[in-house]
Parts: sequence; C-alpha cells; structure tokens
Amino acid sequence: MKKIGVLTSGGDSPGMNAAIRAVVRAGLYFDLEVVGVYKGYHGLIHDQIGPLTSAHVSNLVQRGGTILKSARSAEFKTPEGRKKAHENLKKHQIDALVTIGGDGTFTGADLLSKEFDFPVIGIPGTIDNDLYGTDYTIGYDTAVNTVVNAVDKIRDTAGSHDRLFIVEVMGRDAGFIALRSGIGAGAEKILVPEAPTNIEKILQKLEKDMRQEDKAGIIIVAEGDEYGGAMGISKIVKEHFPDYDTRVTILGHLQRGGAPSAFDRVLASGLGYQAVKGLMDGKKSVMVGSINRKIVFTPLKKAIKYHSSINKELLKIAEILGGG
Ligand code: ATP
Repeated sequence: MKKIGVLTSGGDSPGMNAAIRAVVRAGLYFDLEVVGVYKGYHGLIHDQIGPLTSAHVSNLVQRGGTILKSARSAEFKTPEGRKKAHENLKKHQIDALVTIGGDGTFTGADLLSKEFDFPVIGIPGTIDNDLYGTDYTIGYDTAVNTVVNAVDKIRDTAGSHDRLFIVEVMGRDAGFIALRSGIGAGAEKILVPEAPTNIEKILQKLEKDMRQEDKAGIIIVAEGDEYGGAMGISKIVKEHFPDYDTRVTILGHLQRGGAPSAFDRVLASGLGYQAVKGLMDGKKSVMVGSINRKIVFTPLKKAIKYHSSINKELLKIAEILGGG
C-alpha cells in the first residue's frame, strides 16, 4: 500500500477535521502518500481529489466543520456512480480509502469495497451517536456540550419570567443528544424517539408545578419524538393550559458546528490513527470504533445493520431527577 485517500460524507460533525489531520499525519508516519477527496462521494465521482501534506492539516485540530467539505451524492447510490468513483481511485493510484461519516456513508463504503474488492475503513463521524460498534461517535460530545450551554442560558429567562421552555434538539431516530444533554442541563422532562412519550404524565407534572407556582422549566425534545418535536408538545401543553407561558426553542444546526470538545479531538485523533494502522494491517470493510476504551473493528455490514441502543437506566434516572 502506497497511497490512501480520505473523505468526509453525510452531515458534518465537530472533530472531523481532527480525524482528517490524524489520518494524514499517521499516513505520513507510515510512509504513505495521502490525498483528500473533496465533497464526499460526489468528489470521488467527479474527480475532486488533491494531495494532503502535513502542512495542509496544521492548525486544524481545533476547527469545526470539515476542510474536505461534505456532500450528499445520489449518484453514488447507483452502480454506475460507484464505477466512476472506482475509476477515479484507479486513475489516482489510490490503494485504500478512509471514509468519515455516518451509516449512509458506510453503506456506500461497504458497496464500493465489496463490488471492487477495494479496502475501505470507516471512522464514525456524526453528532447522533447512533452507530453500532463504538461507545461514542466523533462530534457527539461537542453537540451535547453545545446544547447544555444553550439550555443554561435559556434557563435564566425561564426562571426570570416563570416560563416553560420546550427545547428541540437533533435526533430524528435517536435520542442520545436529548438524553445526555437533558441530564446535563437538569431538564424536567426528556422526550426521545426510543421510548413512548407519556403525555398524561407530563401534563400532570405541569399541573402540579402550576399549583405550586413553579412554572419555570425545561423540556428537552428530540426532533423525532412521536408527538412531532417541540412544536407538537407545545401545542398540546397550550391546549390544556392556556395560561402556561410556553416558549419553543429549536436549536437546529448550531448543534453541528463549533470547535470540537477535547474529548472529540482525542477520540478523532485516536480513531484516525487506528484507521490507517488498520489498513496497514490488511483490514477492509470495517469501521474503527472505541468500546470500553479499547479499539474495535466492526464489519461495516454490522455497523450499518445494528444501532446503538439508548441507556434505558439513564432514561429512568433522568425521569426521577427531573421531578418524576
Ligand atoms: P448523517 O446521517 O450523520 O448525516 P450519513 O453518512 O448517514 O451521516 P447520509 O446522507 O445518509 O449521511 O449518507 C451520505 C452519503 O452516503 C450519501 O449522500 C450517499 O452518497 C452515500 N449513501 C447513503 N446511502 C447509500 C446507499 N444505500 N448506497 C450507496 N451509497 C449510499
């Protein structure tokens, strides 16, 4: 193996740059040439590929986003698209590829790897933390900290005005961000897609709080909650308690940006290095992850098929600590 490529794909996440830096510097350490593929699979199909040197990745570990840019490519979902991508890999004499992204990215990576017997290793880069085969994905910790910082600020207004804030966080299918940030921010209620939302219980608690003249509060809702995110919950609360001073805050894309936390930088650095080392050791079609502080390589097929499940005990603890 002489030359490897690296790309970022799907939604960006804080720490992707630290992972790119690690792949480049580890590659150079192992005497490999490293090239960057710009705009994910789109760039692979349309030949947007350029060299990456140590200088390209200096002053990068602390920056959010991805210098390689990210994109979604419908073309890569077709066999013709992947054939073009493979032709470009051959043209540039790239021997192996590191793909940083989520399960969509790995689905594409697995197909490319199997169809052309081409070595690909995936690095989990998504704020959702929903990938099987790693305790944490790159960007999740930063996103949780961003939400906690935002809710701390919102809580000041909630307290000053006796308002109930319903805060929507990212997570169409997974409630990891909601659960962890909700506990960290001391939310009264946390609603996630993985557990049925007991709306009666929420209304009972709000009624009790109202009677005790303690109307200030925070409800954290993952966008994929069955009642339709923060707007859906707010509508129900307003119907039952028109006098409740309720506000909705949708944190949206600010959860994906910003400087990565120290945790994400260290995770990305370790996984980036291990991905390159894994390729040197002949590994292919796997995702590199960290479980119980040990490096684990999981077949991409498995990483895609299964999902990390939310910690139900933590959910119960959140319920108790939030006041029941
Ligand atoms: P996240 O969901 O965290 O944003 P992701 O990697 O899951 O990250 P997707 O948009 O689902 O993001 O996928 C990224 C890219 O991977 C797609 O634009 C597409 O090029 C490729 N991809 C996704 N699904 C497939 C598939 N079934 N076959 C081939 N390629 C795919």
